[in-house]
Formats: sequence, structure tokens, C-alpha cells
Amino acid sequence: MKLQSKLPNTGTSIFATMSALATKAGAINLGQGFPDFPMNATLVELVAKAMRDGFNQYAPMQGYLPFRETIAEKINLLYKHPVHPDLNITVTPGGTYAIYTALTTILQAGDEVIFFEPAYDSYLPNIIVNGAIPVAIPLEYPSYKINWEKVRAAKTEKTRAIILNSPHNPTGAVLTESDIEELRRFVYDTNIFIVSDEVYEHIILDGLPHLSILRYPDLFDRAFICFSVGKVFHCTGWKMGYCVAPETLTKEFRKVHQFNAFSCFTPAQVALASFFQDPENYNSLPVFMQEKRDFFQELMSETKFRALPTHGSYFQIYTYNKISKDSDTEFVKNLVASCGVAAIPVSAFYQSGKDDHVVRFCFAKKEETIREAVGRLKSV
Ligand code: GLN
Repeated sequence: MKLQSKLPNTGTSIFATMSALATKAGAINLGQGFPDFPMNATLVELVAKAMRDGFNQYAPMQGYLPFRETIAEKINLLYKHPVHPDLNITVTPGGTYAIYTALTTILQAGDEVIFFEPAYDSYLPNIIVNGAIPVAIPLEYPSYKINWEKVRAAKTEKTRAIILNSPHNPTGAVLTESDIEELRRFVYDTNIFIVSDEVYEHIILDGLPHLSILRYPDLFDRAFICFSVGKVFHCTGWKMGYCVAPETLTKEFRKVHQFNAFSCFTPAQVALASFFQDPENYNSLPVFMQEKRDFFQELMSETKFRALPTHGSYFQIYTYNKISKDSDTEFVKNLVASCGVAAIPVSAFYQSGKDDHVVRFCFAKKEETIREAVGRLKSV
């Protein structure tokens, strides 16, 4: 049998690769982004209760209505944007799936998609698998800010979408009001859609506001905004998220979704419908994560790694220039084997493999994990 690959240049994701290396070496895994502390026990109990109460059959394709109602309330509260549970919100198995579905909804073969590198690793294959053309714009090293001149220069008749990600994975950069103004000018009077990856909406640090596209009605009109439950409630393995979009876009989004996952795990949606009702359950996250980030940074300041500025996500990036001249991929492979700590090389987030000698650590870990990991990193 001969199969013509749709993704001939795509290998195994760097997260899976580094997690496998970490397991093999018995290392502390600060690579793949996931918390190692327990999730909220009440939420766990609510899921168990939902199962006992018999919520074990298919949820509606678009998501369990009371859950979508609480999402709408949350959005209204946080971003002052009224959205309708039926017309605008679709529950998905995770944020990554929401992004894939949004791109598949929009793209025709030959369309161009602007995105920023370093980029979360799913964007590029998502574009290619749809027969579209990736147009990568490098963020400015080391601030990782968007250079809008470069974005404008990349615009053509075929530009169909722009992917934004704030707080940004892997760099922790966040959008500013001036980025929003630039974005507004960029899309004005065009048929360019916005796919906004906002899975770290609540992991925003240093007292900064999260500039969700939902705050800007003119931008929302052309946007698919993707969120994650796993990132908010420390349960990445749940693979639960949602996409918010205008009515006509949501209609098309659901056409793709209904013949893919169709619907998501019912007991979790029933549990979340009540858990989401208390804003404290998500509003407490920035302070909780800031403590972890500050603790991690403070301990790391005793190592030879140098932190680059970050303002969100649960990642902190570091340059290792003072330690080694190895490529970042070589560096993390040696690190996991010789020091017992796994990290992610930032070059993996570039199509070209651009290597600024920067690595990403996930600090969403228990205090003892952070202490032990940094203790090991001190020896490097
Ligand atoms: N979002 C997570 C990260 O950036 C991992 C997701 C995955 O493993 N696919 O580390």
C-alpha cells in the first residue's frame, strides 16, 4: 500500500518526545506543559456525582446547555461582551482541537495563513493539512513582540487568516493595546479571519489584563476564540475546551465538529456547569501562578540560566548562553540525561529551527518539584 503523506515533514511533537525522554531517564519533567499538583477536589467530586446521577450518554453536539450558559456568563463578566450560549459557544475536546476545527472551517486550498514564530506546534500542520500556505512571521528576539511592519509586508490577496496567541506559548509574551490597534488596522476592510488561541487567559501575570479578542466587537465579528478548561482547572488530561465565534462562523464550525469528535465527555460538562458559576474558581489563578513563577525565578537566579521577560502562560524561558554553545536540542537532550530535568528547546517552535539558545521550563509544579528541579539545575 502506498500512502501519500499529508504531513511529510511533520515528526512526533516535541512535547511527546521530551516527555518520553524524561520518563526513560526518570527525570523531572519541566518540558511538556502540565501541572503535577492535584486538581480541585470539589470539581472531581462533581464529575463523580454527575456519573452517579446518570449523565453518561452523549452530550448535545454543541455542548451541554447549562455549561455553555455559565461560559456565556463568565465571558460577559470578564470581557463585557454578551455572547449567546446557543449561537456563539461550542464545547470541544480541548483548545488544540478548537484551533484545528476553526482553521479547517475557514481554509480553502491555496489560502495563506499568517502566524507568529516561535509558534505552538499544532498551527503549522493544521494549516498544511488543509492545503493552505503557512506564512510565518518571526517575533522579535528577545522581547518576542510582534513586528507589525513585517505582518503588513506579508499581507496578500490570498491572506485568509491570522493566528494570535496571548499569553503566548512558549515565550509568555502578551498582546498590548497597541497590538490590538495594529491588528484592527491590519484586518480592516479585508476578509481575513482571526483565530485567537487564548488557552492561558487566566495565567496572566504581573497584574496585566488579558486582552481577549472578545473585548473588541469589531474584531470578534471575524474571530474564532479558543479556550481550554484543562489549563484553567489543572486537568489537561480532560481534553476539554470551547470555541467562541459569531453566529455564522459558529454554524460552519459545528459542521466540521459534528463529524469529528461530535460531542465531549458529558460528566465533566455537567460538573463544570456548576463549578464555573463561582468566579473565584478562575479569578484566583493569576495570583496562584504568579507565586509559582516568582518562586521558580527566584531559585533559578542562583543558576547560570538567564530568564527572558515573560508575562503569562505557565512557561518561563531561559537562555543558557553562559553554560553551553550546543544547539538547544542537543542542550536539552544532555540536560535530561546528565541532570535529570526535562525542558523544551524553543527552536522546535520554528519551521526553520531558528536557534537562539533558549529553552522553556514549565513552572506549574508543586513547590517540592520546583525545589528539586532547580537544585539539579544549579549543578549545570
Ligand atoms: N500545551 C502543552 C505544551 O505546550 C502540551 C500540549 C501537547 O502535549 N500536545 O507543553
